Amino acid sequence: MQGPDIFKTGLLNGKTALVTGGASGIGRGIAACLARAGADVIIASRRQELCEAYARELAETYGVRTLGIGLDVRKSKAIDSAFDEAAAKMGRLDVLVNNAAGNFYFPAEQLSDNQWRAVLEIDLYGTFYCSRAAFKHLHEHGGTIVSISMTLHHTGWAGMAPACAAKSGIDAITRTLALEWGRFGIRVNAIAPGPIITEGVKKAFALGGDFEQHKDSVPLGRAGEPEEIGNMVVFMASEAGAWMTGSIVTIDGGESLSPRRAGVAPEALEQLAALMKAQR
Ligand code: NAP
Repeated sequence: MQGPDIFKTGLLNGKTALVTGGASGIGRGIAACLARAGADVIIASRRQELCEAYARELAETYGVRTLGIGLDVRKSKAIDSAFDEAAAKMGRLDVLVNNAAGNFYFPAEQLSDNQWRAVLEIDLYGTFYCSRAAFKHLHEHGGTIVSISMTLHHTGWAGMAPACAAKSGIDAITRTLALEWGRFGIRVNAIAPGPIITEGVKKAFALGGDFEQHKDSVPLGRAGEPEEIGNMVVFMASEAGAWMTGSIVTIDGGESLSPRRAGVAPEALEQLAALMKAQR
């Protein structure tokens, strides 16, 4: 969904934004919204070719400068040098979107150390490493960090122990970095999306039914679109969000309030684990 262009033309002209996981799913929609608002955009994830191809597409569509880079958010030293190189090529860095994640359903008692660590390292450590790497550039002139959280950890969510732990940590560092970095003019916020049908979610639903079976749990009756998260990122990155920091904004069609909220029944997790092992 492209959606209506609700922002003033050129709203983010002169700003450069980096989006982790920006070549697919929600990150792809966020990057498109930023580019449409006039920001120059850096797309970063492990699949460098995909990032480069999407960066070219955004440049052609929106006439902004773009860069696609290969980046693993678990590797802190590589992140520091990648951010320095990208900021030097683009001339500056103003906005970081911590969107990359690697979540999957699995019963807690069967999680290996590696599975536990992988999710924490991508979602939580990656968010911190990238925020710290961005600080070096943002503190020169102020800027914005937006991390993508979720709502499942507010109540607990069967089968998602590492993701719930990681996103709780992301909420905590969002508030803490907002306190520490406000004095540098750096605003740090998060967005907690509801269900949006991306490749990552399709994989999870392939094991636990599809979204259609659960859509009654969303009061607005449908899944969200990546651009519906992207529009909030644009708002937060613009002067409209100038007095906003330490906020975690839920955009979920009301799902988190619903008594029919979807989930994987704990007893179905054994079956999920068996299916996942068979798929390897
Ligand atoms: P997705 O389809 O699974 O995409 C994940 C993205 O993260 C990919 O672009 C992937 O690119 C990147 N990534 C994974 N591991 C990485 C690593 N080690 N280093 C760098 N990049 C990495 O996810 P999504 O559904 O779009 O979700 C995006 C964000 O929204 C996540 O933070 C997710 O937790 C959150 N969220 C999603 C939903 C939803 O319903 N979709 C709901 C709530 C919250 P590469 O493979 O190229 O690295």
